[in-house]
Amino acid sequence: EGFEALGIGGQLLKATEAAGFAAPKPIQELAIPPQLAGRDILGIAQTGSGKTAAFALPILSKILALGTKRRPKTARALILAPTRELAVQIEDTIKLLAKGAHIATALVLGGVSKSTQVRKIAPGVDVLVATPGRLMDLLRDHAVVLSETTWLVLDEADRMLDMGFINDVRRIAKAIHPARQTALFSATMPAEIASLAHDLLRDPVRVDV
Ligand code: AMP
Repeated sequence: EGFEALGIGGQLLKATEAAGFAAPKPIQELAIPPQLAGRDILGIAQTGSGKTAAFALPILSKILALGTKRRPKTARALILAPTRELAVQIEDTIKLLAKGAHIATALVLGGVSKSTQVRKIAPGVDVLVATPGRLMDLLRDHAVVLSETTWLVLDEADRMLDMGFINDVRRIAKAIHPARQTALFSATMPAEIASLAHDLLRDPVRVDV
């Protein structure tokens, strides 16, 4: 029953239920168990489908199982989103789902001071939510290191393609450990996204809702 049957427990389950998420949505039912088992995901899902919790809950669950006392001085998980608005929304959802747990999050977005963002990330964060342009900028400056990042999520990959971010996305993925776990979500699957998925995902579970 509910999120517990999908493998979510402890404080994370409490916070999820407190957020009003009683019954999992189809994308959550299909995508959470394989991610908890370590699988990559190719998700065909629209905005409003509940995809944020579908990728956030397994990542948070794994981070909490590892413990948050000693974080690598980097981001453990990286979530890439096409727009500032979506990135802010994703971080808000993560904070809501991780309420009461000691999860450190940070945002990297264009249009705001680089130095403030870099200071926030420097001690290490559990989850970094970023737009590709600004993150690429910080990687070029060596202000962010992703060598110890082990989870990568590409949200609304087709919109990142439309906005001209696809080369940045590929460069960012190259900066991350190849042994990472990756989830790619897209509302549509044009050839460029299929090719990106082929290059970045390892034997993914395909989820279509
Ligand atoms: P998303 O597609 O991730 O942007 O989610 C769309 C909306 O559905 C957001 O307002 C979420 O808070 C809400 N939502 C996601 N999962 C659930 C759930 N299992 N039960 C109730 N609301 C949910």
